[in-house]
Amino acid sequence: MATHTTRMLIIGSGPAGLTAAIYGARAGMQPIVVQGLQPGGQLTITTDVENYPGFRDVVQGPWLMQEMQAQAEHVGTRMLWDTIVDIDLSGPPFRAIGDSGDVYEGETLVIATGAQARWLGAPGEQELGGKGVSACATCDGFFYRGKKVVVIGGGNTAVEEALYLTNHSPEVTIIHRRDSFRAEKILQDRLFAHPAVKVVWNKTVARFVGDPAQGGLKAVEVVDTKTGETSLIETDGAFVAIGHAPATELFRGKLELDDSGYIVVTPGTPKTSIPGVFACGDVMDHTYRQAVTAAGTGCMAALDAERFVAEREFARGQEAAVPA
Ligand SMILES: Cc1cc2nc3c(=O)[nH]c(=O)nc-3n(C[C@H](O)[C@H](O)[C@H](O)COP(=O)(O)OP(=O)(O)OC[C@H]3O[C@@H](n4cnc5c(N)ncnc54)[C@H](O)[C@@H]3O)c2cc1C
Repeated sequence: MATHTTRMLIIGSGPAGLTAAIYGARAGMQPIVVQGLQPGGQLTITTDVENYPGFRDVVQGPWLMQEMQAQAEHVGTRMLWDTIVDIDLSGPPFRAIGDSGDVYEGETLVIATGAQARWLGAPGEQELGGKGVSACATCDGFFYRGKKVVVIGGGNTAVEEALYLTNHSPEVTIIHRRDSFRAEKILQDRLFAHPAVKVVWNKTVARFVGDPAQGGLKAVEVVDTKTGETSLIETDGAFVAIGHAPATELFRGKLELDDSGYIVVTPGTPKTSIPGVFACGDVMDHTYRQAVTAAGTGCMAALDAERFVAEREFARGQEAAVPA
């Protein structure tokens, strides 16, 4: 078992964590990134990325994350392969315990553990992921220009995704297991007023139909929750919009979280309820959830972490200068 110490400990190696690392390393913070079970984060499970600035052509998610990691290492980041299983936020220094038994101590802590989309777990969903099945309209809606799509869900996320998809698609069908939405009324009003939107009530998705090697998704099979009857809805794309689960179990009871489990930050900053602990990316953002916004808040977290360390060092210098 080893103890690793740094001025900036980063948990998570998605766009938020790696951007924090790039800025932290360049500010002399000698960051350590603990990568977790998904090195590179969520973009490593997608293919085409067309909205990350700087690339005229579509790039591949895994490639983009490899480049980001290479850039972080090039400027001096230490990447360590471990998963944090326990944390002590009574510092600074903040202490994290890895699954390996190693201890990580940071004078500042940057939390970039992300949020995973919730999936239905229906047959075909995983196999057709990226081949017609998606959990992000902002990310993938553009690929369905002029095509028919369905959205599955009934909360704010589903209604917002459906409205976003009307920018591209002439026919957006929302499939919901109940006979009314949970979404805010104003969103529902906009949805019901939109001519491209159709709602299918009281239906659950039993399976996603199609062959990943032959054109991908073709239809979703639905079951009527009242009669039990099954039917097929033909579609080119299906967007599962039943919410996200932020990776914050580690911090429950130790850091302020909102009702959905996201880390609460001072608005417009990455500052959490504990000075010296910063949160960036999807783990603190239930609105935008994009690689570029994660990277942006990662940059902010690193800049604030550097200021936090500098202020503490200045204060220590002032104390030392006071004659006894
Ligand atoms: C299929 C799919 C396609 C997408 N397409 C696009 C797109 O085209 N464009 C776009 O902008 N966005 C897209 N997104 C969204 C984008 O991927 C996310 O917004 C972005 O990755 C969030 O970055 P993040 O760094 O906050 O978190 P994540 O990328 O989720 O990374 C979280 C990191 O935290 C680590 N971690 C978690 N828990 C622990 C722990 N206990 N200890 C150590 N490490 C831990 C994980 O291993 C991972 O490295 C897509 C998402 C998905 C799922």
